Amino acid sequence: AREQASTVQQYDASNDTNAANRLELLGDLRRAIGADDQLSLHYQPKIDLAGGRVTGVEALIRWQHPRLGRVAPDQFIPMAESTSLIRPLTSHVLDIAVRQAKDWSDRGMPIPVAVNLSTRCLLDPHFPAQVFDLLHRVGLPVALLKFEITESMVMTDPEKALAVLRELRSGGISLSIDDFGTGHSSMTYLQRLPVDELKIDKSFVQAMGDSHGDAVLVRTAITLGHNLGLSVVAEGVEDLAAVAALRELGCDVAQGYHFARPMPAEDFDQWLSDYSG
Ligand code: C2E
Ligand code: CA
Ligand code: CA
Ligand code: CA
Repeated sequence: AREQASTVQQYDASNDTNAANRLELLGDLRRAIGADDQLSLHYQPKIDLAGGRVTGVEALIRWQHPRLGRVAPDQFIPMAESTSLIRPLTSHVLDIAVRQAKDWSDRGMPIPVAVNLSTRCLLDPHFPAQVFDLLHRVGLPVALLKFEITESMVMTDPEKALAVLRELRSGGISLSIDDFGTGHSSMTYLQRLPVDELKIDKSFVQAMGDSHGDAVLVRTAITLGHNLGLSVVAEGVEDLAAVAALRELGCDVAQGYHFARPMPAEDFDQWLSDYSG
């Protein structure tokens, strides 16, 4: 309900063609990273379809702009990605996520937290060392941090990206391919990617009930993922019909409004204690 209500007064940067306004928003974002009271993370559980267990959460950034209200990540992440600002932003997100995972783990809830990466991190040879340093400082076991990347990020510079991915993974961090089915998928790179999980994009999952083509794509993605030895996650699971269909197809994990919306950490604690699987 919280998420729904907030969309009412959401700022839409895509309608804002004014370059000066976009520049101002970037400046606001830069200050928000330093300020600490506008940016927060929401967490959305991933549910094991066979047993109902919570397998982890995805961390999703939220920005409460002092004047514009809630600005959606789809509005400012691409903007930040086109500048160097994405690096401090990602460090900020990682810092919060890792500390939250540590807090949960210390309180007897060892829940893996997945953080979305951007192209710039993936192509930065220093990124893995920074991540391992953070984990070490906070004292979080590597198994409790995961990263989500997209194929298009990898395809920007495959050799560079593969080197970073291999270093992260050999250090024990699991990796997931996000938005599967949307970009140009290359079979060659897909089987070379050192990943553990494949996430089928929500557009296919949502359309699966009405469209034969989308249902075929979901089925094919599940088979492909399993043949590559990956765990397959469906995102955008909004109703029981989708849960039943995905279970039938042998999909491993589901994430979506049917189970829970992304929520602040405090609400997640409550949700988890009420959740009966
Ligand atoms: P994503 O990584 O594909 O995240 C999934 C999006 O689907 C999230 O949108 C989530 O709130 C939404 N979602 C989850 N379940 C459902 C459902 O059942 N139905 C529908 N319609 N939507 C659902 P959100 O939080 O607005 O994030 C949008 C995108 O922004 C993310 O897509 C991701 O690409 C990016 N993003 C969010 N947080 C971060 C971050 O910390 N760092 C980076 N680099 N990107 C982020
Ligand atoms: Ca994601
Ligand atoms: Ca996605
Ligand atoms: Ca995405």
